[in-house]
Amino acid sequence: MSILVVGSMAFDDIETPFGRSDNTLGGSSTYIALSASYFTDPIRMVGVVGSDFGDEHFGLLHAKNIDTEGVQVVENGKTFRWAGRYHYDMNTRDTLDTQLNVFADFEPHIPQQYRESKFVCLGNIDPELQLKVLDQIEKPDLVICDTMNFWIEGKPEELKKVLERVDIFIVNDSEARLLSGDPNLVKTARMIRSMGPKTLIIKKGEHGALLFTDNGIFSAPAFPLESIFDPTGAGDTFAGGFIGHLSRCGEINENEMRKGVLYGSAMASFCVEQYGPDRLNELDLLEIEDRYQSFLDLSRIGS
Ligand code: AMP
Repeated sequence: MSILVVGSMAFDDIETPFGRSDNTLGGSSTYIALSASYFTDPIRMVGVVGSDFGDEHFGLLHAKNIDTEGVQVVENGKTFRWAGRYHYDMNTRDTLDTQLNVFADFEPHIPQQYRESKFVCLGNIDPELQLKVLDQIEKPDLVICDTMNFWIEGKPEELKKVLERVDIFIVNDSEARLLSGDPNLVKTARMIRSMGPKTLIIKKGEHGALLFTDNGIFSAPAFPLESIFDPTGAGDTFAGGFIGHLSRCGEINENEMRKGVLYGSAMASFCVEQYGPDRLNELDLLEIEDRYQSFLDLSRIGS
């Protein structure tokens, strides 16, 4: 089943206590699309880049069968740029710089052939743009949305309008608390779910993820990795694996959502193993299944 992905396409400058990587291909939709591409075909991307986004970058996406017809290229424009520095625990980071560049004047246009997409993943971008995308989609079966503190603080009213129209909201723990104004995650989940999304996923970095539905709470562990190079994009990669799994299920029910959380976690655990999306470019299905099994084993107990 096709998935429409909208979000940022970026060049990132990433600094960790152990090294750095500049001009790295990034952006929310890049990570979502690469991750979801292992689960289903086709992934349709909508976004904007400048003329500095070259054939080698498009080539990486096309190699994974990602359809980029919905990506606008602005002549003489510069692609969105983000710079971040991770703290010693690699779980927290500071944003050093955000340059919207071509995103500042972006008007999303959903190509006709994308409009009947059944699965829509609204990656982290300006909520006003997320709303414009939703206005152009005909009748999606499932809308998933991600955001970040930049928009929770900058455009809270627009974000609330988006939340009224999404089925599943994915957010990290600090962003969830920022949105609810409450430190307790269970109360926070109740408050956010009352804003619209029936299902909420709260990501907790190296501490796993929580899924909140009408049926209760499911807790997924994070994979205990010995070396973490770069957590950038892990959240988006999670969203890609989650929606990728759901898009290949006949019916979306509680069990498939729980499996989706584990596939998302498995994909995110690969993402952090190298800088940028490098690791996501070279995976195979067997490795993904193996990692998924390892997740199941993490909390299995004998009789
Ligand atoms: P994550 O680590 O999953 O939060 O995603 C990191 C990606 O989000 C990076 O590749 C950035 O280019 C992108 N990003 C950072 N800030 C923003 C923003 N304000 N709007 C859209 N994308 C962003």
